[in-house]
Amino acid sequence: MKIAAVHTHILDHPLDTAFESASMRFTRRQHVLVEIVCADGTTGWGECLGPARPNAAVVEAYAPRLIGRDPRDTEILWQELYNLFRDQGQRGLTVTALSGIDVALWDIKGKHFGVPVSVLLGGRVREKVRAYATGSFRRDGVDRVADNAAECAAHAEAGFHAVKIKIGFGVPEDLAVIRAVRDAIGPETRLMIDANHGYTVREAIELGQKAADYDIDWFEEPVIPEQLEAYREVRASQPIPVAGGETWHGRFGFREPLESGCIDIAQPDLCGTGGFTEMRRVADMAALRGVRLVPHVWGTAVQIAASLQWVAAQLPDPPRRDPVEPILEFDRTPNPFRQAIVTRPIEHENGIVVIPAGPGLGIEINRDALAEFAPKAS
Ligand SMILES: [Mg+2]
Repeated sequence: MKIAAVHTHILDHPLDTAFESASMRFTRRQHVLVEIVCADGTTGWGECLGPARPNAAVVEAYAPRLIGRDPRDTEILWQELYNLFRDQGQRGLTVTALSGIDVALWDIKGKHFGVPVSVLLGGRVREKVRAYATGSFRRDGVDRVADNAAECAAHAEAGFHAVKIKIGFGVPEDLAVIRAVRDAIGPETRLMIDANHGYTVREAIELGQKAADYDIDWFEEPVIPEQLEAYREVRASQPIPVAGGETWHGRFGFREPLESGCIDIAQPDLCGTGGFTEMRRVADMAALRGVRLVPHVWGTAVQIAASLQWVAAQLPDPPRRDPVEPILEFDRTPNPFRQAIVTRPIEHENGIVVIPAGPGLGIEINRDALAEFAPKAS
């Protein structure tokens, strides 16, 4: 089996209403898919977390190394590609681009053996997973408190057991949002907060101390990801469990945060931390320390499908009669191509997502949608 071609597909759509987290403003949706084509016609799909064009450029830089190679050699190829840019690229785009390639290789491997990736990972522990709704960004032109509360009430009404809201805009306003959302969703729905590393360490501690009354499951990315001492200080000085990891890449990126006790919940992104190959290592490292794993998910149906394959095979930790089940991050923000690019959209029903059982990632790409959402010349 040999790789014949590597393609990237950028997807792009301007948003009617811009929205923002504490660290990023979104005026359009842009994501990049990786397509790897084999000489026998087998095709695999992956996705890279982060900026589309830079990721595509790095995938294209890796591509010549893949031509003629056996796509089933996922460990060998991972190490070889990582080594190619190791001296300048231990983290960042070199790893996010490699992640998209790795996911596509596993898709091929699953199709070749006629099984879902979750079977290759060791077996399907579950066929469905509870999703939590990610949204509640700050949108232009509306009152953030009322807007977030109404949005979260709708998520709870739609059956989601949990919602995650964006904070990091300033402690008083964030507390007003948290209070309003808790009122809107009632006491049963789980609530998580995500500062997208927008706080100083003092703000994060103050927010955590005051927000704990509202029964928060986790406090995500309180401070910038390089400030590991600050992570530990936030974790030690306020009662809400601390989550993080969407920007920590691979085993080397997770090593110090895990070893030094920065987080209660690890959130590696399958399409950012190094694909299935590296995710297994990160997951083992988290499990060694009893740190809960809840993958970060922000992308199209390709990334969602890949994350579902991962979650299908995620072992209960600890194993017990009624284990803590993994949950799936389910982005509810506007993105017209998120599901349009697959022939069968991956939707939730009453907050539950069924994990595809077909070979590889279990999805088929709708090429008409790739063309429809390709960047337009301006
Ligand atoms: Mg986040």
